[in-house]
Amino acid sequence: MKAHVNETLCIGCGTCEAICPDVFKLEGAVAKVISETCNDCCQSAKESCPVEAIWLE
Ligand code: SF4
Repeated sequence: MKAHVNETLCIGCGTCEAICPDVFKLEGAVAKVISETCNDCCQSAKESCPVEAIWLE
């Protein structure tokens, strides 16, 4: 499973990085995906994103 961030929607709140720091990293005001592999915390990060900018595949 891999995580993706819709950078247009992302407001840079940092929640995904706080929940799943091995996968998400803020760069400026946008979260970037820094890992090809996604573990269980990605689902939590997805559910916690306030603007639903994260999707998993
Ligand atoms: S939780 Fe959502 S809005 Fe917040 S930094 Fe991550 S992708 Fe962006």
